[in-house]
Amino acid sequence: MELIPVSATAKGPVERFTGDVYVTPISPALEPMYLAAGTVHFMPGARTNWHVHPKGQILHVLAGVALVGTRDGAVIAAHGGETVSCDPNVEHWHGATASNLAVHIAIVEASADHDGTDWLEPVTEEEYAAAQVAALAQ
Ligand code: MN
Repeated sequence: MELIPVSATAKGPVERFTGDVYVTPISPALEPMYLAAGTVHFMPGARTNWHVHPKGQILHVLAGVALVGTRDGAVIAAHGGETVSCDPNVEHWHGATASNLAVHIAIVEASADHDGTDWLEPVTEEEYAAAQVAALAQ
């Protein structure tokens, strides 16, 4: 066994996120397990770009309200203690609501030659606004 030191928190890069996002790695992918995990803090209004995970993803919400949206307009609003699964190769985004922050642990399966995420374009303001409406309708 090995004690993995606390990793530094890094600002989510603008190439992958909109707004203020902070990522703290929990564990890199440790061969042959290839599960990578990190804690992500999204300030209100912040979210990922659209992206896919070839092997899917687990998001476990620690605090606040996290939104997870897909291209078909479906949105899940998940609260602290709840977990959202993202299917393999389904384009989606996740983030805070416009009025609340979100903190989640993201767990993704990587492989020897892939970090587990393929990044796409930003979620537009229109798409994000529509997600707020969809989440409130739940
Ligand atoms: Mn994801």
